[in-house]
Amino acid sequence: MKVSKILLASAMLGSMMLASCGGPEAGESTADASASTSKAASSKKSSTSKFSAIWSKDASQHVDANCEHEGKDVEVCINSSLGSVKETVIAKTPHTWGTRSEKVEAEGKTGYWTNECSVCHTKAIIIDALDWTKIEGSNKDNTGATLKFSTNGNYAEYEFNMPTALTNVTIGVYGWVDYWKDGSNNNDQRGFFSTKAGDGSANVGVKVNDTDLTITNTKTYEEMGMTAGENGNSSFCLCEMGTMASIAAGDFKLTYTRLESYNLNITEIWLMYK
Ligand SMILES: [Zn+2]
Repeated sequence: MKVSKILLASAMLGSMMLASCGGPEAGESTADASASTSKAASSKKSSTSKFSAIWSKDASQHVDANCEHEGKDVEVCINSSLGSVKETVIAKTPHTWGTRSEKVEAEGKTGYWTNECSVCHTKAIIIDALDWTKIEGSNKDNTGATLKFSTNGNYAEYEFNMPTALTNVTIGVYGWVDYWKDGSNNNDQRGFFSTKAGDGSANVGVKVNDTDLTITNTKTYEEMGMTAGENGNSSFCLCEMGTMASIAAGDFKLTYTRLESYNLNITEIWLMYK
């Protein structure tokens, strides 16, 4: 037992001398070292290949992520003359929204709220998806809590007086999708382009003042942050769809249409701009 430990230790030392960063993590070898049977001695090949790189975080190169940019963690190999460096990307964080405004309402118009991110000062106009000025078709959600159309081609229109011209506007919908935790009945409802027809087209359409929004978001709903619920409803999530270069001040109309059966249950439509 003692002998096998010595053999193992000298094998480790040898591998350290030959070490170069880029191999597996150094810490992985400790479990093998404690297994002191003769079998462990014969399996030292896994220890020697694992015991290589010692990485140290370089705090001076660390960048925190925020809602505007990704961050990074930088680690430098300290047991190699090669100076290996590895970077881990830290995902962007969501915006930090403040308290939304009182609802802006006018007779015969759609109500909306405004809000602003306290970090990057992105502003939002948040349209109440259940406060349409016109609906064609029927709302599948007869509880009235969300909008989900029954039939392809159904649409709702939202109209109000846009208080100011907007540029570089990101449009998103806030809602959830039918989504079973065990995956048994998710109907491939995985994103805006996960349509039944499988033709690469989107399952919903948005027009702003009769101009089509090009939906550019090809992420799955999971990648957008939705998680499965127990009862067939996913968590709510703000799903960014795409960007419009400009939206004029004055009369504003947004049309939200079901194009394919896999549409979301939505409560709000967000216009985000700076
Ligand atoms: Zn922000």
